[in-house]
Amino acid sequence: MTSKKQIKDTFFDLIKIDSVSGEETKVAFYIKRYLKRIGVDASQDKFGNVIARLDGYGEFLALCAHMDTVEPGRGIEPVVKNDIVRSKGETILGADDKASITEILEAVKYLKIKNIKHRPIELIFTCGEEKYFAGSINLNYKKIRSKDVIVLDHSMPPGAIIMKSPFIYNFEIKIKGKSAHAGDVPEKGVNAIKVTGDAISELKIGRINKTTTLNIGEIKGGIGINTVPEEVYIKGEVRAYNQDSALRQIDLVSKAFKKSSRKHKARYYFKSSLKCPGYRHLRTNSLIKEIVLVNKELGINSKFIDNAASDANIFNKKGLNSVVISKGGSNPHSIRESIKITHMQKMISFLVEICT
Ligand SMILES: [Zn+2]
Repeated sequence: MTSKKQIKDTFFDLIKIDSVSGEETKVAFYIKRYLKRIGVDASQDKFGNVIARLDGYGEFLALCAHMDTVEPGRGIEPVVKNDIVRSKGETILGADDKASITEILEAVKYLKIKNIKHRPIELIFTCGEEKYFAGSINLNYKKIRSKDVIVLDHSMPPGAIIMKSPFIYNFEIKIKGKSAHAGDVPEKGVNAIKVTGDAISELKIGRINKTTTLNIGEIKGGIGINTVPEEVYIKGEVRAYNQDSALRQIDLVSKAFKKSSRKHKARYYFKSSLKCPGYRHLRTNSLIKEIVLVNKELGINSKFIDNAASDANIFNKKGLNSVVISKGGSNPHSIRESIKITHMQKMISFLVEICT
């Protein structure tokens, strides 16, 4: 079993390297150097994702974690007390997803040092996961031989297996009315804020049903209180486990703004895009069955849960069989983020086991 000290050392090295999305170069360099020291060659594709392969016997398996973090993620100072690691309180901890990188690196090191016979393993460390999976979207898939990919990117104690993830659509709307002096000739203007308000009041916002949500998240418009506002920009998103349900909401939003624009004689521009393809796994999925079996062997309780998006959404869309599991940790994307070193230790045992 890998010692807690060794886990802590590697984890601290990683979280002390700032790697906010788009700035992953230094952490990629650390990973490549670490792997080189244990005799594993790693390279980067054009986008900056780190890819490595270890020859072995049997079926290929890929392990994936992302290298980037969210803000506030600069100058992270870890504090450890009774097995729990936290940041000092002004930044995130970055266990999302550097705990996973640590677990993968330590598991591979263990296999190498102990000279344990293992299956062929591929390692994928992505850039820009927090920016709508930029790294996995731009990954050089020609370099990947595995059909199965385990993505370590869920903040819960070991054992969680993600069964489904929603389709996420973003939309952007621009309302173009007409400016006029608000006091002298308001009747000559077309108030884009009024158009927006009327459209939004027609919509159900928030939770639409058990599996669908709609959010208007940003509104910008108007240039002064004595001017009839000419332009308003609106941004929002729809999430749904069912693609048709997501598209239905997109359609309702578009229609509401169209109707209101017509009524007030404003112009309207609407754009929507699929930001994240959803997926749904069955319990009979071969990789899930394998994960459950290893969990059982190690005394880890398997928990089947639903979750938001990750690189696995892109991998599944690309035709790979990708399952997200928990890596330990709690409160990601917050200054209260923490992780137990014993949970990371457990995950290293899990990875060693599933690779052998
Ligand atoms: Zn993450």
